[in-house]
Amino acid sequence: MTTETPLQLLKAKEAANLARCGTSTWWRKHSAGKTPASVGSGARFWVRAEITAWILHGMPPRKEWEPIWKQALASRMDDFNLWVADTATEKNRDTKLDDVTEMKSRNTHHATRKKMASATSVGNKRRTRPLTLNQEVVDRVFDHAFDLGIASSREALNMQLNQMYQQAPRGLIRSQISWTTYGWACIVGCTACSSGCIFCYAKMLHDRRHEIYLKNNGCWKPDGKRMPVQYAKPFGEIQLLTERLGMPLRTRTPGRVFVNASSDVFHEEVPIDYIQKMFLVMGSCPHLRFQILTKRAKRLHELADRLPWFDNIEMGVTVDDHNAVKRAELLKQTPAKTKWVSAEPLLSPLREMNLSGLDWVVAGGETGAKEQKIRAAHPDWYRELRAACREANVAFFFKQTGDWVHESQLADTGLTGSTAGRPIHEWPDGTRSFRFGRVIRHDILDGQKLQEYPTNWASLN
Ligand code: SF4
Repeated sequence: MTTETPLQLLKAKEAANLARCGTSTWWRKHSAGKTPASVGSGARFWVRAEITAWILHGMPPRKEWEPIWKQALASRMDDFNLWVADTATEKNRDTKLDDVTEMKSRNTHHATRKKMASATSVGNKRRTRPLTLNQEVVDRVFDHAFDLGIASSREALNMQLNQMYQQAPRGLIRSQISWTTYGWACIVGCTACSSGCIFCYAKMLHDRRHEIYLKNNGCWKPDGKRMPVQYAKPFGEIQLLTERLGMPLRTRTPGRVFVNASSDVFHEEVPIDYIQKMFLVMGSCPHLRFQILTKRAKRLHELADRLPWFDNIEMGVTVDDHNAVKRAELLKQTPAKTKWVSAEPLLSPLREMNLSGLDWVVAGGETGAKEQKIRAAHPDWYRELRAACREANVAFFFKQTGDWVHESQLADTGLTGSTAGRPIHEWPDGTRSFRFGRVIRHDILDGQKLQEYPTNWASLN
């Protein structure tokens, strides 16, 4: 689709939004095993996503939903009909245009028409409600933004935030990671830059899904649910998902937010103005604490003076082995209020790391697929880190032991069975680790669950 005029640009954006609607929580919850009649007011989103995918990506709508999207088109959404007709023309899909005309003239059931009309008006009201921010928060964000030349006036800043808010499809979704509450993926894609990247989990997952996307024409299964649009591109391509920038603004429940688990905010291909926008959103959500993690400490250091550092931004660097210790030193030179280190996957002892000036250390071992040569971590490396944190008064969080379990940790991890037949790693001290993969009590070290947070995060613990 060519996108030359503003109208066409708008349509392209709308198409992306609609395609994403089709994979939202709502979609997953309602489209599996439910009938069109049972989805109620959510039908509008579903119908739009289905038709968009049909017209723009050539995916035929599923049979059981056909009556409802035909009714939707015919009964209520005149503007949407026009959009569909235009898009169909651009795509030179005459048959689709004919279908739409035919649908418009079809005499649909009165009750269903009424239901769809009410669903549409409720949806519109919710989507167009303006963003309301506390004046104190706006003032603070504006002061930072103005000083850095990011925003010229309060109105411009308000407009920018409001636009991001309107574009966001929903609030943040819960994360599976033990030390955070939500995930915020407004950038997807990355390239390896460190020894810890060799078995990057995000890459492995994305590659697998990208393959499925290509094989099934954008669906999880042939003619099944549609996949999120980011899987259309390979992991090595950095994708800025601008429509997700406003997701924190739509999140009301306080919590920690891990920023871009499937990318690196300070990747060379992420423009500074995009990072600045992210920081403005973070500053506008004081009820959330944002946990950023990067391996590109050099770029972080270079850009730090051009970013607005709000108190709720917790900046971290990954220190996976002794060669990466200098990242922590670069982090210390930034104005971030809370600074932390993720020693995961831990690949060597970190005796050289000076913990003064840091607030938090998270440690964990490497995990991965069976066929990957996952590297073992000696539990003494964690113990040394824990002792150093105690001494420097730094919070220590033991996340997980990794795929390899040291013989001294067998009881801790709940592994009472035999180690026979397990791959063995021999350590220079004569001890051994066994590869078990995922274990039950993976977050226990010396009989203890160590999940400390910096004291200034106390309100969220
Ligand atoms: S920096 Fe992180 S996301 Fe990027 S390749 Fe390395 S491990 Fe993966």
